[in-house]
Amino acid sequence: MDKSKLYELICSYNDEMLELWKNMVNIDSGPDAHEGVKKVSDIVAEFLRNIGFLTRTINFPNAGNMLVAEYGDMTKPFVIITGHMDTVFNKGAASTRAFKIEDGKAYGPGVLDMKGGITIALFVLKALLSMNYRKHPIKIILAGDEEIGHSCSTAPQEFIKEGTGAFAAFNMETGFPDNGLVVERKGMYQFMLEVFGRGAHVGNAPKNGRNAIKEIASKLLDIEALTDWDKGNTFNVGVIEGGTVCNSVAAYAKIICDLRFVDSSYLPDVKAALQKIVEKQYVEGTKTVLTSIVEFSAMKRLDTTMELFALVKRTAQEEGFRPVTAKAVGGASDSAYLTNIGIPTVCAMGVIGEHNHTVEEFAIVDTMLERAKLLAAVLVNV
Ligand SMILES: [Zn+2]
Repeated sequence: MDKSKLYELICSYNDEMLELWKNMVNIDSGPDAHEGVKKVSDIVAEFLRNIGFLTRTINFPNAGNMLVAEYGDMTKPFVIITGHMDTVFNKGAASTRAFKIEDGKAYGPGVLDMKGGITIALFVLKALLSMNYRKHPIKIILAGDEEIGHSCSTAPQEFIKEGTGAFAAFNMETGFPDNGLVVERKGMYQFMLEVFGRGAHVGNAPKNGRNAIKEIASKLLDIEALTDWDKGNTFNVGVIEGGTVCNSVAAYAKIICDLRFVDSSYLPDVKAALQKIVEKQYVEGTKTVLTSIVEFSAMKRLDTTMELFALVKRTAQEEGFRPVTAKAVGGASDSAYLTNIGIPTVCAMGVIGEHNHTVEEFAIVDTMLERAKLLAAVLVNV
């Protein structure tokens, strides 16, 4: 395929790309807006059907839907392009912070994470297919509840089911300013520990009290002591609440914790250690309950991922693009479910920017075409 013609075609889509990007950012699709996720999904599905894909949705009663789109003979080894349509922002964000461009930066909820990446993928596929790309079948998998860790859906199982048969995957997640592409991500396990003690008047009957704060304070230190820097298991107790007034023994206390891990195979041992802490009693008569909040698998660094990354790196060199580097990061993504079943996956191929998950989130507009050309060339070469 003539790559310079391909790049020319992609650049000719610039205005359409900005328009679609804006339209998607201006739809609330946060955790409380499943119907907004559906709207984004409908826009993407229509676009993909227009260029020849078959599309279907996977619906969940309590979470944003997934979109799956296929092009070509899916019985052959295929390429996956993946990402998510939801954002972290609740309803109202799109109207108070509508898409805008100022000084070469685009702003708006999910502009970087990751409606820019979806826009890139769509127009790269449009360009490739209009230039008669036939090299491999392509499957698009977009989740609708990634930002809440798929806590109310079976999306991880769907990723595994839909991903089986792929030989390479590219995730259009948030790109990094250093042009690093992600080949490894930590997994995450968030949980809550609640202690139920017994309240008592501290003047009249202090001995009747069972102090939940004392119990949880001791357990908190045990939990933080589970951090293993060598293995890359790190605990953070990020929230603590308990008691009501200082003249009553605290009847209740809770902590909310976050564990990051490099390798999902460490998780059973870590959970067993946690269970021991739950069962241990510092203050007689208290009861501790552990509740899992969300669990996200780690994206393993596969040797085959490094080979796929080498192809991306070589492509960037040959085409005279900005050099790319491989990096490991602490934030989770759906790439984990693909690497879990051995599919080489390069993540963070999306538009580049900073401050995702905050109101300062921005994407550098020029990186839209830069990353589109990179993805297009990589898809030609892979
Ligand atoms: Zn994301």
